[in-house]
Amino acid sequence: MEQSLCAPSQTPLDTPLVLQCQTCRTILGDSNFFVCSQAQLQTLTLRGASSVSIAEETHVVHSGAAQGW
Ligand SMILES: [Zn+2]
Repeated sequence: MEQSLCAPSQTPLDTPLVLQCQTCRTILGDSNFFVCSQAQLQTLTLRGASSVSIAEETHVVHSGAAQGW
C-alpha cells in the first residue's frame, strides 16, 4: 500500500519541526509549511521554503507514482 501523509487532518505541533538538507545542512523550512509526504517518492511537500532555487527546465512525469494523485 502506498504511504502518503497529508496535513489537513494533522494537529499542528507546539514547536515546529525544522527541515534541513542532509548534505549541506541548509535549513529549507519547517513543519508549519508542511503539505504532504510521499514515502514511495521519498518526498516532502511544503507550501513555502527558503534557500531553494528553481531549475530553469521543468520535468514532467507521465507514469508511475510521480505522475500525480
Ligand atoms: Zn543541500
